[in-house]
Amino acid sequence: MFVDKTQIIIQGGDGGNGVVAWRHEKFIDRGGPSGGDGGNGGNVIVVGSRNQNTLATFRYQKELVAESGKPGSNQNKHGRSGKHLRVQVPVGTVVVNEQGEEVADITKDGQEVIIAKGGKGGFGNAHFISSRRQSPKIAEKGEPGEMYEATLELKMIAEVGLIGQPNAGKSTLLSRISNAKPEIANYAFTTIRPNLGVADIDKNTSVLVADIPGLIEGASEGKGLGDDFLRHVERTKVLVHLLDAYQEDIATTYKVIREELAAYKVDLSTKPEIIAINKIDGLDEEIVADQVKAVRKVAGKDAKIFTISAVSGLNLKDMMYEVANVVAQTIEEEIEEVDELPVISLTNTDEAWEVTETDEGYVITGRKIERFAMRTDFENEEGVARLRDIMRKMGIMHELERRNINLDTPIIFGDKTEYGRMTY
Ligand code: GDP
Ligand code: MG
Repeated sequence: MFVDKTQIIIQGGDGGNGVVAWRHEKFIDRGGPSGGDGGNGGNVIVVGSRNQNTLATFRYQKELVAESGKPGSNQNKHGRSGKHLRVQVPVGTVVVNEQGEEVADITKDGQEVIIAKGGKGGFGNAHFISSRRQSPKIAEKGEPGEMYEATLELKMIAEVGLIGQPNAGKSTLLSRISNAKPEIANYAFTTIRPNLGVADIDKNTSVLVADIPGLIEGASEGKGLGDDFLRHVERTKVLVHLLDAYQEDIATTYKVIREELAAYKVDLSTKPEIIAINKIDGLDEEIVADQVKAVRKVAGKDAKIFTISAVSGLNLKDMMYEVANVVAQTIEEEIEEVDELPVISLTNTDEAWEVTETDEGYVITGRKIERFAMRTDFENEEGVARLRDIMRKMGIMHELERRNINLDTPIIFGDKTEYGRMTY
């Protein structure tokens, strides 16, 4: 598992000062002390959010500081407490303090953990009155809020795979778009270790990019790649297929890599692909256009082709937005697929039903279906047909079919009370 990390200063709000004050300002000992307490400082709180997938926010903002408490005032008035600072973090975030201890482990949407406490407000002089001390002239200062440098950690799985022949510029691209610092050199097989890097698309979106090395040099047998890395590769949602614009036969290079994809230890050939023709800095537009045409001929008219420079950064932003789009789309489709599976919810007792085989026939129970049966006139063929439709929608018919129901076996509704019977 790859762990994204970022450091940030966390500070609870300072407590407000207590004050020294007197009921009648002019007469110090006669009016009595009336200095109020300071308000407490706000806490810094992290809140788990399923809608976030990145720590990028904390790379843009280097401090999280909650509001300080206000000082007290005369007539025993408390200072207002500082507001808590609530910060959303992705589910899966772990906050670690300078000693390496876990301060928070966010595993659920909406889960809240205080990661820095605000300081307590100081007592005003009204607080210190006693029989021996009628006119205390002391007040406390507010306590400073808790402060430390926290490390936020988030486990991530690679969503984007970089593929391409050696020297296409994969390592250069990865170093340009992400926080990874891979080795780069102008000869083949530079990347001996797989590399991963987090690319921040914007404050709310990041993708983990894996430089998948050596498709061509027989890595389809998984040579030198750990299972851990292959798990990343397996889960990638989109491939960025990098091509060197200087290649003479760019179409063939493209095809060779495509063939390798299917033979790879993890079948990559079915994943969505974005083609990036790299190194266009310093090349004539016409040459680039010809290369695009050549690639399109083999990749098809719907292929997504970008022309980029990993070195100068040309068109990288556009491409990465598209990459993030495809990732988001794929995730959405996967969620829909899951939604379409029949869901038999045990908590939803209304919808739940059961089929029991007895000597008399199949007995159907369940609150919703029994209520429908109750309202059905079993003498009326139309009414029975409607009940059959409802049973089909609820999945009961399917269950009867699965049990190889005999055409004249009675189907009985309700066990304690019988609401009616019919046949399949
Ligand atoms: P990899 O084998 O695919 O990881 O390729 P590298 O990132 O190691 O790059 C191979 C060579 O191509 C290096 O000399 C890079 O400097 C060069 N290179 C990569 N991207 C570009 C680019 O956009 N423009 C130019 N001119 N050279 C590049
Ligand atoms: Mg490389």
